[in-house]
Amino acid sequence: MTGADKLPDVGTTIFTVMSRRAAELGALNIGQGFPDYPVDPRLARSLAEAVAAGHNQYAPMEGVVALREAIAAKLRQALRIDVDPLAEITVTCGATEAIYSAVQAAVGPGDEAIVFDPAYDSYDPAIRLAGGQAVHIPLAPPRFRYDWDRVRAAITSRTRLVIVNTPLNPACTVARAADLAALAELLRDRPILLLADEVYEHVIYDGRRHESALAHEELRARSFVVYSFGKTLHATGWRTGYCVAPPALTRELRKVHQYNTFSIAAPLQAAIARYLPAHPECWQGLASFFEAKRDRLVQALDDSGFRLQPAEGTYFQLLDYTAIAPGSGDLDFSRRLLEEGGVATIPLSPFYREPPSLPYVRLCIAKEDATLDEAVHRLRAFARHATR
Ligand code: GLN
Repeated sequence: MTGADKLPDVGTTIFTVMSRRAAELGALNIGQGFPDYPVDPRLARSLAEAVAAGHNQYAPMEGVVALREAIAAKLRQALRIDVDPLAEITVTCGATEAIYSAVQAAVGPGDEAIVFDPAYDSYDPAIRLAGGQAVHIPLAPPRFRYDWDRVRAAITSRTRLVIVNTPLNPACTVARAADLAALAELLRDRPILLLADEVYEHVIYDGRRHESALAHEELRARSFVVYSFGKTLHATGWRTGYCVAPPALTRELRKVHQYNTFSIAAPLQAAIARYLPAHPECWQGLASFFEAKRDRLVQALDDSGFRLQPAEGTYFQLLDYTAIAPGSGDLDFSRRLLEEGGVATIPLSPFYREPPSLPYVRLCIAKEDATLDEAVHRLRAFARHATR
């Protein structure tokens, strides 16, 4: 008891734990999701210019207007929808702040919020800090599909929010149009909001389509939809994301946002506002950029002993290690792979309330080809050594 223990069972995130341990051991870190290559030099230049031009004081609480206009223009191009940049877009400190602020706005003491396991690790604590209770519904492996009957059975008069993540980190799957239709039907005539985490919106493979809550008229009317420039511009350290929601929901979100981060780094917003409309290829080319990396990895690990079901989306890939360490738990396997194989990955069980025994670790493909090749080399060596 410290007198300050609102999340007694929460430790340090698995991403931080693995990155820290990888640094200590000098291991190859393909666990936590971040690129190891530079941002577009034109984006870097745009930031230097923004600082030189004097964008160094508080940005507007809601976000720089030029950036919100650029976002609205991009949404029009990508999803063919009209969004009011002033009333419906809020710039946030990464998607994590957007998620946190949306949850605080939507969930109150005693309320329930439904999340799907494996769930991104920030959802559950955000719900609990709002005084709510997270209701965890597992997605069925190996394909991690939604069971909408199960969701229907979990809805109560206290349910206020459902959180859906597509493309889904860490399962690397994407929601189908039928999933959104089933969800819309379930929420119809109920006072339940949707938080759609769509940060990997452009990282989607094999010709699949991103099914956005924003492009679904009925869902859009009750949704906070969250995006990330960290992912889209390969700049996770910029901590710049945004939330799109109807005006009434946006007003509630901003009440939280203004007392949480207040406003987001001004030069970063100015830099993105200039770069984004001038270089639409930065998001239009993301799928093929990452698909080539995914294919490189999947092919190179063929016959390695690891089994890979190619990711449907996200810049991650699951490795099935059943043949290498049958019966081994994922926490234990990822620890061995790190300590003995020199490769940091992310196990899946921290993303579950009740972890099933799943033989997967997640790795990040947003890496230089040389990094991926080195990872393949080490993974193959580990597999040989482990199965000897
Ligand atoms: N989104 C990143 C991932 O899934 C992690 C971000 C973080 O460390 N909080 O790897």
